[in-house]
Amino acid sequence: MNTASIVVATMHKRGISGLPRNYELVYEALNKSNPNLTREFAALGSQPSQVDLDEIGKKYFAHHHHDGVVSNAQEKISGELDELIGRLNKENNTLQDYNKVLDDNASRLDTMARNPRNKDILSITDALAQATGDKIENSKQIIDRVLLATKELAQVKEQLDEYKSIANTDPLTRLPNRRAFDEAMSNIYDSNISISTSALILLDIDHFKQFNDTHGHPIGDRVLTVVANAMSKELRQDSLIARTGGEEFGIVVSNTSPGSVELVAERIRMAVEKTSLKDRKSGMDFGKITISLGVCMASQCDNADQLYGATDEALYLSKNKGRNQVQVYDAERMGKSSNKRAMYRDT
Ligand code: GH3
Ligand code: MG
Ligand code: MG
Repeated sequence: MNTASIVVATMHKRGISGLPRNYELVYEALNKSNPNLTREFAALGSQPSQVDLDEIGKKYFAHHHHDGVVSNAQEKISGELDELIGRLNKENNTLQDYNKVLDDNASRLDTMARNPRNKDILSITDALAQATGDKIENSKQIIDRVLLATKELAQVKEQLDEYKSIANTDPLTRLPNRRAFDEAMSNIYDSNISISTSALILLDIDHFKQFNDTHGHPIGDRVLTVVANAMSKELRQDSLIARTGGEEFGIVVSNTSPGSVELVAERIRMAVEKTSLKDRKSGMDFGKITISLGVCMASQCDNADQLYGATDEALYLSKNKGRNQVQVYDAERMGKSSNKRAMYRDT
């Protein structure tokens, strides 16, 4: 049995409801990642209340759903469920085929047995029909059990996937958040192909503090969403745009080249610049907003951290050169500068 099915079986046995947070708790308790957690879970006995379960959850998963341990458990359970559901579906098909063969043969045997000319084989067919009948009953029960388990596990997986998507989404803009961005960044360096065809764009809204000071923070928030949508529209499905910080965004571009990623960045810059910030209801015009961008190909760096640093340098060169522009990382020019981290000028 794999871990997911042991977790599911344990929860069933102890009458614990199928909430994602309960799966995580039981998973970690069985996994013995923390002896105290395992002990306290065991002490709850059968039919623990949700309040008691949450008490333990709060204690050991302090940062709740952003905790690394929890997230690992989630990934693991989700992956294992995928595999298990696949296996159960396959088994289910096999069982149904088998059931059909048994059904067909049972009726044939039955017809044979009813024919008086087949008297001599009557006892044999009787025995066979009996045996086959038992099998049909058994296999039907197995099919029902498998179906139920598959359905239940598919629901668990759906819940976990939904939960994961919430954990990876920025609530304001609905874009992927920093966590999703970091994951996409580290995936780049998993294969030589993606290293040579991926790039990073980092961007930061220009003079946004001033915008907030003039129009107020709530309008600033709305503008962040408008800008996020305008940028998303310019991107292909294979790019991931994330809100990496307050008014900063990162775009992991796949299947690209130095020439085309620069064009993508320029297209995004123009899209933001021409986005109207007029409130449709009140007719109030908040003017325009611009962004500064930095671009770097993954192949210019050895790992995700370096890639972030190099792209960040390119972004700050854009700020220094007057904002509302794209700068491409140039190892010769930027990497060697001694004060590359120095604050940029306010222009
Ligand atoms: P520049 O980047 O062009 O140098 O100037 P800036 O004024 O944008 O400077 P910086 O990027 O350092 O400052 C970020 C400002 O963005 C600070 C804060 O007022 C605003 N900001 C950050 N996060 C949010 C947010 O979630 N909502 C709103 N409304 N404003 C935010
Ligand atoms: Mg900023
Ligand atoms: Mg800014």
